[in-house]
Amino acid sequence: MSDPLVTASSSDFYTDALVWDAHAGVFPDAKVDLNLLDDWRDNGVNYLSINVGFDVMEWQQTMSTLAAYRRWLLLHEDRFLLAATVEDILLAKQENKLAISFDIEGMNALNGDLNMVAVYHALGVRQMLFAYNLNNSAAGGCHDSDIGLNEFGRAIVAEMNRIGMIVDCSHASFRTTLDIMTESIKPVVFSHSNPYAVCAHERNIVDQQIKACAHTGGVIGINGMGIFLGDNDVSNGTLLRHITYVSELVGAEHVGLGFDFSPDTGLDIGSILSSRPDFWPAGQRYDTPGIRHAGPSQLCDLAHSLGGQGFSDGEIRGILGENFKRVAASAWETCAL
Ligand SMILES: [Zn+2]
Repeated sequence: MSDPLVTASSSDFYTDALVWDAHAGVFPDAKVDLNLLDDWRDNGVNYLSINVGFDVMEWQQTMSTLAAYRRWLLLHEDRFLLAATVEDILLAKQENKLAISFDIEGMNALNGDLNMVAVYHALGVRQMLFAYNLNNSAAGGCHDSDIGLNEFGRAIVAEMNRIGMIVDCSHASFRTTLDIMTESIKPVVFSHSNPYAVCAHERNIVDQQIKACAHTGGVIGINGMGIFLGDNDVSNGTLLRHITYVSELVGAEHVGLGFDFSPDTGLDIGSILSSRPDFWPAGQRYDTPGIRHAGPSQLCDLAHSLGGQGFSDGEIRGILGENFKRVAASAWETCAL
């Protein structure tokens, strides 16, 4: 229970709050040095979901990244905790560790095999997205023809609900997201998607999607990437505009943070990305020079800024982490093996 005297105007408020970043944009590769995760830990983040694969890759690369990340995290238990449950995350906060679990962006990682959902779950994946920008064997992507969820996709939703994994609609097409939210018996999230009404971009989501997500009891994580915020502006003022818009539309209890922060990994990402330009189509500002990202170092100030905008302390705690925690507690409770 939080101390009622620790309000948003106090310097202890942020330290006391549970801080949940629903998605990092760390490029998934077994060679990435995960010491870069200290940036989140040093800035008071308590939980972070990092992706171990996306549809651009072969599924085997996802598995090798997952194996490398798991091993690294287990060898660095003094600073990090590989989290399986919400209780693990709360324990990590108590011990000043950063709790980590994994997500996968797109169902190509299943290699067409529904059984793989449980395998990924057993290895620490707690959130999966149905597509990565383009259509795949299960679902539609946001930069492709607007198709819905197919039979395989519907079976995946049911399996994720059964096994205890957060159902994530970011990067999927309009029709697919509405189908997912109809199918899921658990709250559904957009882990890192911004309102289209504030920034017109195909990766962002329209009011109907935001309302449908809230109707499931879910959360929309505000994305810190400059081209999804608008004009490559990643200031807290711009983040506040997105947070306020979603809050006014569906309530602050349906807003969270999924900054998609992409630190320098030392890998030659440019050549990797340019080998598959179809995933980042022309006209969507992916070629913006020097794309900026809001990062964990902004979070403490953002919490104070929310107070200045009239959000209550309870609403701010919700946006910082309690809202995503609520979804995780529901989605992960089954944890069937
Ligand atoms: Zn993403």
